[in-house]
Amino acid sequence: MDGKEMIKIPNSIYLEMVEHAKRESPLECCGILGGKDHTVKKAFELQNTEKSAVRYSISPQEQLKVFEEMGKDAMEMVAVYHSHTHTIPFPSETDVKLAFYPEVSSIIISLKEEDPMVKAFRIGKEAIYLEEIEVIP
Ligand SMILES: [Zn+2]
Repeated sequence: MDGKEMIKIPNSIYLEMVEHAKRESPLECCGILGGKDHTVKKAFELQNTEKSAVRYSISPQEQLKVFEEMGKDAMEMVAVYHSHTHTIPFPSETDVKLAFYPEVSSIIISLKEEDPMVKAFRIGKEAIYLEEIEVIP
């Protein structure tokens, strides 16, 4: 990895994620962003099977379906997103434990403040890196 990592998200998808987070609040929402070369092309909303306000989990079946759909459009998983309805946008201990894809961005939408905050991270075994989000038209 050289230079700063960055993920590009179209404005409409960015807003979709924030809307999804608000709709599910106070429960955490989750989803997958598909695209290519760190550029998001499509958001897939998923069920939080935990139905919890402090953690989330994605069913393997639902994830498989999304992988199939992305495959049809030659997309790959660029990011996994979820919301923090009461805490800051930083990976929780559980998030770190459940980060199975260090090459994929983890996006957290925080609804703690009135203005939602969206942050992206790479969660590695040794460290957590902040990743810049560029909202594109
Ligand atoms: Zn979390």
